[in-house]
Amino acid sequence: MSDKCNFETRAVRGASGGDRITGAISFPIYQSATFKHAGLNESTGYDYSRLQNPTVEELEKTVALLEKGEEALAFATGLAAITCCIHLFKGGDHVIISEDLYGGTFRLFHDIYNDLGIEATFVDTRNLEEVEKAVKKNTKGILIETPSNPSLRITDIRAIGKIAKTNNLIFIVDNTFLTPYYQRPLELGADVVVHSGTKYLGGHNDVLAGLIVVKDKTHVERLKYIQMSTGATLGAFEAWLVLRGIKTLHIRLDRSQDNAIAVANWLDKQEEITEVHYVGIVGSEGYEINKSQSSGFGTTLSFRVKDIGLVAKILKSVKVVSFAESLGGVDLLITYPFTQTHAEMPDDLRKKLGVDEYLLRLSVGIENIDDILGDLKQAIKG
Ligand SMILES: *Cc1c(COP(=O)(O)O)cnc(C)c1O
Repeated sequence: MSDKCNFETRAVRGASGGDRITGAISFPIYQSATFKHAGLNESTGYDYSRLQNPTVEELEKTVALLEKGEEALAFATGLAAITCCIHLFKGGDHVIISEDLYGGTFRLFHDIYNDLGIEATFVDTRNLEEVEKAVKKNTKGILIETPSNPSLRITDIRAIGKIAKTNNLIFIVDNTFLTPYYQRPLELGADVVVHSGTKYLGGHNDVLAGLIVVKDKTHVERLKYIQMSTGATLGAFEAWLVLRGIKTLHIRLDRSQDNAIAVANWLDKQEEITEVHYVGIVGSEGYEINKSQSSGFGTTLSFRVKDIGLVAKILKSVKVVSFAESLGGVDLLITYPFTQTHAEMPDDLRKKLGVDEYLLRLSVGIENIDDILGDLKQAIKG
C-alpha cells in the first residue's frame, strides 16, 4: 500500500488492500491459534497467535500507516496497551500523567503500579510550568490525553514534546479521542501513541481492542517482548472487526462531529446547563492550541447541570440517547462519570477536576441531528 495515498484511501484499503493470495477484498480472519512448520527451523513467519497472527498483523500495519508510526502492536483492550507501555518503566521510576484522564488509566497507575514501585504524579498538563516542576531525577516518562476524559482539556503536544526531549522522558499520548484522522501525535513530538480501539477505531460498540504505535524502532523490540510475555494480545476476529471499523472512520467522525458541534452549541444555550466542555465551541479554552495540532474536535463532550435532580431525570427519560459507559461508536451514549468511568478516582481529585455529581458526558453518534436534539430537549425540559 503506497504511503503516498491520502488518509481516507489508506483507511479503506488497509495496509495490504485485501488478501494477496485469494484476492479477497475483505482481509481474511485467520482463526488459528497455531501454525505448522514444514521442518526444523522452517516457518511461514507465523508460529503461534500470541506472537503473530496475519489478521492482527494487518490491523497493526494499517494503524501504523494511519498514525505515521514505525510499527503498531494490537492488544485485547486499551488498558492492556497502556499496561504494556508501563512495563517500559521499572520499580523506582517516576512518571508524569495528565490528571484529567480516563478513570481506568488513573486506577492502573494509582492502585496497581504504585504498589510495584512505579510512582506517578498527576498534574494539569495544560500548565507547562507545573509539568516542568514535576520532573524529578527518576522521572522516565510522561503520559497525556488531549482532549482529556472527561473534561476535554487540551494539552500542547509540541510543548510537552520539548519538555520530554530535554529531560529524556518517554512521551506517550493517548490518542483515543481524536484518532489519527484528526490528530497524529507522533508527528508532533510524541514517542508512543496508545489507543482504546474499543472506541472510534472499532466504532460500533461491538469489540474491545487496544493499540500501541511507536514513532521509531527505539522501543519496538522491548514492547513486543513485553506483549508476548504478558499475553494480552488481540484475537483475529476482533482484529477484523476493528479493520472493518477503520474503513469508515473518517465518514463516521465527520458526521458525528457535525452532530457534536450542534449538540454542544445547543446545550450551551440552555439555562438548565451551567457549563459545556467541548473544544469544538469557538473561543473555548484550548480551542487555538487544539486547532494548531489537530484537524478536528472529536465527538465527545461533557456538561454540567444546574440542578442535581436533572441527572436522574435525563438518564431515565432519554430514548434516542442510551445511558451507557463508553464512547466513540455510531450510537449516541450518555455516561455519568461520577459513578461509571471515574468512580474509583479519589474524591479530592474528582472535586478538583469537577468530575462530580453534576457532570454528564456525551459521545455523539451519527443519528439524525433533529432526533438527537429533540430527545435531549424532552429529557432536559420535558
Ligand atoms: C476507554 C478508554 C481507555 C481504555 O480502553 P479499554 O479498551 O476500555 O480498555 C483508555 N483511554 C481512553 C481515553 C479511553 O476512553
